[in-house]
Amino acid sequence: MNPRPFAVGRNCDAWCTRCKMELAHTIVAMVDALPVKVICNTCGSEHKYRGPKAVAGTRTRSTSDAPSRSSASSSASKSRTTKAEREAADNQRELRRQWDEMLARTAGTEQVPYNVKADYTAGDVLEHPKFGLGFVLEETAFNRIKVLFQDAERVLVARHGKKPEE
Ligand SMILES: [Zn+2]
Repeated sequence: MNPRPFAVGRNCDAWCTRCKMELAHTIVAMVDALPVKVICNTCGSEHKYRGPKAVAGTRTRSTSDAPSRSSASSSASKSRTTKAEREAADNQRELRRQWDEMLARTAGTEQVPYNVKADYTAGDVLEHPKFGLGFVLEETAFNRIKVLFQDAERVLVARHGKKPEE
């Protein structure tokens, strides 16, 4: 798997300050090609980006040299997002179209509340406390599922605490 560059709206692995676990998050704000604010795909809380623990532990000097610049430039960078905003709007329409299609296709399927420990397969319909109705698209890794929500595709945790050999 080839890690894609960070971008607003994309998923990334980060440390969740509420779940106290490394989990998939959705990036909501970026500064200098790095996420600064993320939303936890599991508990839905919004917090500052903290890389997965392995990354944070081996931080190089170049990334930690600019400690307080991020808060100042995040508010100043609003005006240079026109192209990105247009692409995001197109993306949003396409997502909404897919979501409507899934809604029609899964009519009659039971909607189960999202649970990090549950086992999901493609085609399942889940109800997330924060993101609403979602459709399971695929299992991207042993305990990660890709879910289509009305506003975004998110990678959620599934079968949490279970191991592949079980
Ligand atoms: Zn969380």
